[in-house]
Amino acid sequence: MIVVLDDQISTYQIEQIVSNMTAAGLPSTLGAQSKPCVLVVERAVSEERRKWVGTLPGVSHVVTTSDSCRLTSRCYRSESSTVTLERGRIAIGGNEFVVAAGPCAVESEELLGATADAVVQRGAVLLRGGAFKPRTSPYSFQGLGESGLDMLDRTRHRTGMPTVTEVLEPSQVDRVARSSDMLQIGARNMQNFPLLKAVGRSGRPVLLKRGISATVEEWLSAAEYILSEGNFQVVLCERGIRTYENSTRFTLDLSAVPVVKSLSHLPVIVDPSHSSGRVDLVKPLALAAAAVGADGLIIDVHVDSREALCDANQALAPEQFASLMGSLDRILTAVNRPLARLSSTSKPKN
Ligand code: PEP
Ligand code: MN
Repeated sequence: MIVVLDDQISTYQIEQIVSNMTAAGLPSTLGAQSKPCVLVVERAVSEERRKWVGTLPGVSHVVTTSDSCRLTSRCYRSESSTVTLERGRIAIGGNEFVVAAGPCAVESEELLGATADAVVQRGAVLLRGGAFKPRTSPYSFQGLGESGLDMLDRTRHRTGMPTVTEVLEPSQVDRVARSSDMLQIGARNMQNFPLLKAVGRSGRPVLLKRGISATVEEWLSAAEYILSEGNFQVVLCERGIRTYENSTRFTLDLSAVPVVKSLSHLPVIVDPSHSSGRVDLVKPLALAAAAVGADGLIIDVHVDSREALCDANQALAPEQFASLMGSLDRILTAVNRPLARLSSTSKPKN
């Protein structure tokens, strides 16, 4: 059960509600985000007690977390949610279409910086780049780890671009959150429940990729783990699923975009790079994603794309990215969604 508290609630009132509920045998945990402030009760609660909680002063309403009405669902929140990244003042999920771009992996500060400059000039507002890489083979490049995080941190300060980078383990969450604006949960970790809870508790914006063989329901349940910790700052990312088709790396499930948008209030973006695994398919799939109603894209771009240490077959060179952005502009005009721009007044924080 989720207890949603009034917007203007005081700390004293929250303490009162928590102690009343605990005395009545309903221990709860306070969600990490400030609005809406929620208390999560993990055990089953009778209808009578649920009604009683609803009458406590300071309680706005109570949500039963059944499969049909969960925190991720439009039944809980009918309006579409936006996820805000403070650096650059970017909102994902509003009318503006957001493009994230950058190398698959952070390889050096020079390459990261040159790629950041190349993509921001061409209209990207969010810089991607993995410092910790979950590779299929243990012998492949595993990322630069903490020094990669430091490079991302310095690059976001220099450019004013917010960053998104993957976190692989619960113990890394605080460290990654200090160096990046958004935490990425990769496809291979979509059902790593301790990790989902840890990013939920962090209260930081999260990019949750769809698991390689996850159904939409499993994907939304994974998001539910994050929201039930009180963190509503979640963006979903469709990145292709495993099917029998092997002409592409994965099969991009574009129908999942309108399906998820009808079921859930969370923003959805598309990764045409990891789904297709092929440079020549990134642009047509990116355009299709914009046309089908995605809120943004995340694209692999590398200044020396053929030499990329990770996923070179799908990395666009800056000119290819420029061509994609030019065509995207026309699709966005057709669907009446302006491209998000980095706020020129934004001052990098911390
Ligand atoms: C990535 O974006 O770097 C990545 C590893 O993607 P995925 O988890 O979707 O495979
Ligand atoms: Mn990759």
